[in-house]
Amino acid sequence: MFSGLVARRAGATPLKTFQPSTLPHVLRSSAVRGLATAAEPYDVVVIGGGPGGYVAAIKAAQLGLKTACVEKRGSLGGTCLNVGCIPSKAMLNNSHLYHQAAHDFKGRGIEVGSLSLNLATMLKAKDSSVSQLTKGIEGLFKKNKVDYVKGAGSFASPTSVSVKLNEGGETQLEAKNIIIATGSEVTPFPGIEIDEEQIVSSTGALSLQKVPEKMIVIGGGVIGLEMGSVWSRLGSKVTVVEFLGAIGGAGMDGEIGKSFQRTLEKQGLKFKLGTKVVGAEKKDGKVVLNVEGAKDGKKDSLDADVVLVAIGRRPVTSGLNLEAIGVEVDNRGRIIVDDQYNTTCKGIKCIGDATFGPMLAHKAEEEGIAAVEIIVKGHGHVNYQAIPSVVYTHPEVAWVGKNEEELKADGVEYKVGKFPFMANSRAKTNQDSEGVVKFLVEKSTDRVLGVHIIGPNAGEMIASATLAIEYQASAEDIARTCHAHPTLSEAFKEAAMASYDKAIHF
Ligand code: FAD
Ligand code: NAD
Repeated sequence: MFSGLVARRAGATPLKTFQPSTLPHVLRSSAVRGLATAAEPYDVVVIGGGPGGYVAAIKAAQLGLKTACVEKRGSLGGTCLNVGCIPSKAMLNNSHLYHQAAHDFKGRGIEVGSLSLNLATMLKAKDSSVSQLTKGIEGLFKKNKVDYVKGAGSFASPTSVSVKLNEGGETQLEAKNIIIATGSEVTPFPGIEIDEEQIVSSTGALSLQKVPEKMIVIGGGVIGLEMGSVWSRLGSKVTVVEFLGAIGGAGMDGEIGKSFQRTLEKQGLKFKLGTKVVGAEKKDGKVVLNVEGAKDGKKDSLDADVVLVAIGRRPVTSGLNLEAIGVEVDNRGRIIVDDQYNTTCKGIKCIGDATFGPMLAHKAEEEGIAAVEIIVKGHGHVNYQAIPSVVYTHPEVAWVGKNEEELKADGVEYKVGKFPFMANSRAKTNQDSEGVVKFLVEKSTDRVLGVHIIGPNAGEMIASATLAIEYQASAEDIARTCHAHPTLSEAFKEAAMASYDKAIHF
């Protein structure tokens, strides 16, 4: 998603970013050093330069609005590009290659000499991907004439954002519309202090300088499974402690989740499900975790060199001075919005992780575009039934729409069509045939309600399923669409076929 868009700018000259004296449309407070009188207000000021905020800012500028984006991190791209999607995928990709070279190449007739890990270089490669892509966003801001204001924004009034500039000093931006896109941060674990060395969040887990001999992951959600996979492939003994009875976090189909767990166990990860962490202490260079059975309260303790806390993320709203302007949050700290992303204060919208819905970069981006289109045209479009999720392990797990548990709870009558990758010629040829494609289809209409995939390239294949749900396709529409041979996508077509007829190759 980002790479296609941004890679073209990868080699671009670094942008000259905001300088108080060169930025137009800036109203200066008395505290600002050496600034001239303001020009007219911005049409849109976006607070936060993550996937929600930077996409909103670019779209606003493309639609002819005077736009500024305030970002305090010192680089654009938010959690996603700096400490989230992008660096984690760099580590997932390269650790997978290392693991393949160590355990899989020989069976393919590729014999390498002695193999060793140069972790420092692997981390450098990750950092280089991040900096190319974040600079690419600066390039896009320049190209689209978005003013990039480096600093922390807070509300001085419903039409005015006060910015504490990273370089020192303050400025004030007047705006007709303001979009809050301040994203999310790691949910802390009460009583367990993150030091980003021994007890780490996902951010620390992306930069460990040494492969830990033993690692415990608290939380068997997406971050736990992706980062647990990375360090397991690089040689760590990883145990995942999960409070619930299943892994994968919200939305993953139960059957797929069970098969995913078996696959990860074969790769060496251990799971302690139905287990609650109650405390941690550092002892003799290790971290000792005290745990209890979630149901029976049975006590146990586990030790590790590094503990990753991955129990979810929470919206970032502190420091915005929301109380002063009447922007309300719900009981989970998420900014309350209506169906046009309006907060409880007129003229102020909120998108992305800071408000309702799944915390996903592509969801934030869709909302960024929709929010701006609503400002300009009065309407925008995000289909919350068609937002895909992907776990970038190997094999990948991807899904869109409803899972079986949700359909049962809703009392919907449905049919299931499945096709295993071991019956797909390309997957067999690639010697990478673990997994299945599963279609859930409405019984009375044949409409596709959900697609769940565990398998090679599931994250790419889910795009077809998302399109099918967006266009309200029937399973037969997909099965009658010609798919190239030999491709993994034939498994997708055959699973659709299996839901109303019989698959050919299984
Ligand atoms: P953010 O990306 O969090 O951006 C908000 C920005 O606002 C930040 O840069 C912050 O510095 C800035 N900000 C906050 N307050 C202020 C202020 N007062 N003034 C100025 N600036 C401010 N999602 C996926 O879809 N796919 C993935 O593969 C994926 N992998 C992930 C891996 C990890 C390890 C993590 C942690 C997350 C991952 N996510 C992934 C989630 C994804 O990163 C978020 O859903 C996405 O970044 C949300 O975008 P956003 O714009 O709402 O917020
Ligand atoms: P998550 O909500 O996916 O998973 C957290 C897990 O921790 C849950 O399974 C929960 O039951 C468990 N948990 C909570 N408290 C616990 C406790 N005390 N003891 C043991 N287990 C406990 O959260 P995450 O993995 O931290 O990820 C945060 C967000 O980032 C998610 O919303 C996710 O969408 C996003 N993200 C997405 C991707 C991706 O799209 N590939 C990758 C990483 C992160």
